[in-house]
Amino acid sequence: FKGGEATEGRGQRVTYEDIGGLAREVQRVREIIELPLKYPQLFQRLGVEAPKGILMHGAPGTGKTLIARAVASETEAHFIHVNGPEIMHKYYGESEARLRQVFDEARRKAPSIIFLDEIDALAPRRADVHGDVEKRVVAQLLALMDGLESRGNVIVIAATNIPDLVDPALRRPGRFDREIAINVPDQRGRREILQIHTRGMSLAEDVSLDRLAAITHGFVGADLAALCREAGMYALRRALKSFQLGNERTEDLQLQVTMRDFLDALTEVEPSATREFAMEI
Ligand code: ATP
Repeated sequence: FKGGEATEGRGQRVTYEDIGGLAREVQRVREIIELPLKYPQLFQRLGVEAPKGILMHGAPGTGKTLIARAVASETEAHFIHVNGPEIMHKYYGESEARLRQVFDEARRKAPSIIFLDEIDALAPRRADVHGDVEKRVVAQLLALMDGLESRGNVIVIAATNIPDLVDPALRRPGRFDREIAINVPDQRGRREILQIHTRGMSLAEDVSLDRLAAITHGFVGADLAALCREAGMYALRRALKSFQLGNERTEDLQLQVTMRDFLDALTEVEPSATREFAMEI
């Protein structure tokens, strides 16, 4: 399965420690997924069907992909990332075959997690679409979900920003019947996320993550990650400037990210919610 629309494998390790501010959400995902992936025989012995699919919904950049990757890493499951819009548009007309391949591979390499990102592009409400292709893709996905043996060793995690756009048939029992809201982080959540993204950074003493968390209302995880990266760039530019002016040796360079760098970065990094809003006007 080559091409940019799906990445797979067991690489790129993400752990639960890399996810900030979503303790309850992560706990629920783990309860639903880890048990059947690790101990499918328990479900068989009990004669109980293991869950096949869960639907995560929430604003862009809140950590949905991160959670799916972390669960896959921690359970050592094979991970297949399928991007809804790409599979629909890049291989128009071949989307059903591609989906079959994905499910096939997941079965062969089980235990597996299939991550269907932006599932609303893949399975929009059939009542809202006119094209036959779209309708066929939804039907194919339903058939593949129903065809999964409920042994628990293949689990499909779907993600969407707008759950109401997804065909309701997918949200019925035996399909994506568990739903988990991934919320925009509150101040405590932002503090945790900032902590994670500054973990490897050399921070000056004046940096207050508490204060940064307090003044970044509306920032999601992806925004906070961008803020930290940008603050790092400010620190680097500042250091290089003093390097050119004076005659310091590189080892004397003050290479630390200061609170000022973060505040400067804040003038450039905006919460994605505002960016989307700005684009609409
Ligand atoms: P989309 O809906 O746009 O696909 P998403 O919810 O899947 O977004 P991710 O791809 O998981 O978002 O997040 C993008 C990046 O933002 C992550 O790789 C990570 O660096 C950072 N990030 C997002 N949420 C969190 C979080 N809760 N904790 C730590 N980092 C986060």
